[in-house]
Amino acid sequence: MGTSMRSPRVLILGIDSAEPLQVEEWIEELPNLKQLYETFYTRVESTVPPITIPAWLTTFSGLNPGYLGLYDLKYREPRTYTNYKLYNYRLVKDIDFIWNRLDRLGLRSILCFVPGTYPPPRINGYVVSGFFTPNTKSNFTHPSRLREEVFQVVGGEDKYIIDIYEFRSIEPKKLLRLLLDKLDHDFKVIKYLVKSGNWNLAIAILMSIDRAQHTLWRFFDRGHPRYTEDPELKEGLLDIYRKIDQELGDLLAVLRDDDVVIVMSDHGAKRMYYRVNVNELLREEGFLRVKEEPSRPISLRDMDMKGLIDWERTTAWAWGAYIAQVWINLKDREKKGIVSREEYEDTCREVAEVLSRVKDPDGRKLDNRVFFKWDVYRGDRVEYMPDITVYFDNLHYGANAALGLPDLYSLATFKGPDDSNHGEYAIFMCNNKPERPPKELEDIADLILNVLNV
Ligand SMILES: [Zn+2]
Repeated sequence: MGTSMRSPRVLILGIDSAEPLQVEEWIEELPNLKQLYETFYTRVESTVPPITIPAWLTTFSGLNPGYLGLYDLKYREPRTYTNYKLYNYRLVKDIDFIWNRLDRLGLRSILCFVPGTYPPPRINGYVVSGFFTPNTKSNFTHPSRLREEVFQVVGGEDKYIIDIYEFRSIEPKKLLRLLLDKLDHDFKVIKYLVKSGNWNLAIAILMSIDRAQHTLWRFFDRGHPRYTEDPELKEGLLDIYRKIDQELGDLLAVLRDDDVVIVMSDHGAKRMYYRVNVNELLREEGFLRVKEEPSRPISLRDMDMKGLIDWERTTAWAWGAYIAQVWINLKDREKKGIVSREEYEDTCREVAEVLSRVKDPDGRKLDNRVFFKWDVYRGDRVEYMPDITVYFDNLHYGANAALGLPDLYSLATFKGPDDSNHGEYAIFMCNNKPERPPKELEDIADLILNVLNV
């Protein structure tokens, strides 16, 4: 039987948060990625917002985030103002992902560290859930016996690394070492699963670049407001790319010549100057009302829990750390809603007008981008999406939802400081020129199914 009779296979290596501008600049240093890059490379538009969970789940379903009802790693519980819950796979169990399509055709998939796949879906194949796994005792693999095998591959349960938590507060040199170790660990598992030989689609996603950028960006970017000279960390982020490139080389060596290999990201990254204290601004402008002045910085959640937000007089409030998600206090939808359906669009535009006028601390104009829900989302869960999404200075400024802050800008949230924000473009490269080049993440699922002839 000739090779043309073999069913095609697709391997996707996801580098979460890989920024097109950075990859383009460093590609000469990355020989294995360069091979793919030279065959086919393009920038693709990420989702609104460019956040890991909606971005990857849109990629693998081909659906606009409005069908998924996802806009962050957490979601606001309906009829509550500030009760956010961590996303889990049960929320999308009715969504037809590419692995579900393959499943029905008796084809096999490997999902390795794909964000959003906890608890693991019971598909035809193997699943090792990603960084949402609560702990090593939880059932994070499918089939469940795979967990013990994975522990063996990395040298024991105590060597298994779910994520590098607290990446914003770990000393940068230590973080770099931990992230390189994490890549070693991840590729052991990826290679083990890929070598099983019995699959049609394999997706493996690496979080190391994302984790690194939030802390290591200021060491290579001379334009960063907090640029720091440090010979050991100067190439820290590039070293992580080099490690990925070298591991990719090893991985390619165990693949078949006719396997289609895609390397892509879910969104990019860019230097962050400041965060805009969105709720402070909404309060100043009279959209958000409090019952008592906070005397020190306090989260919106704590203010709400203490009963200090005057919801009966509040028109709009915001959430989010990289991107501002703004909600209108809509009658019938919110517990104490005051804005009628008739007033809804005008209110959105009024709030958007105020947010789009935000300037930098020196009074200079910023490139703020405002997205209305009705313009960017389609699908049966649009009602759960934020009414307005704001990219301050086109994502060079983040957001902070806390109250009681001294002015309009801050450098950190309660979770800590951040060197970088997410970017609105992702990378896409492939060892096979696609028939139709993808323009946005929503195009990728069809592209994969085409290659697989399903
Ligand atoms: Zn991401």
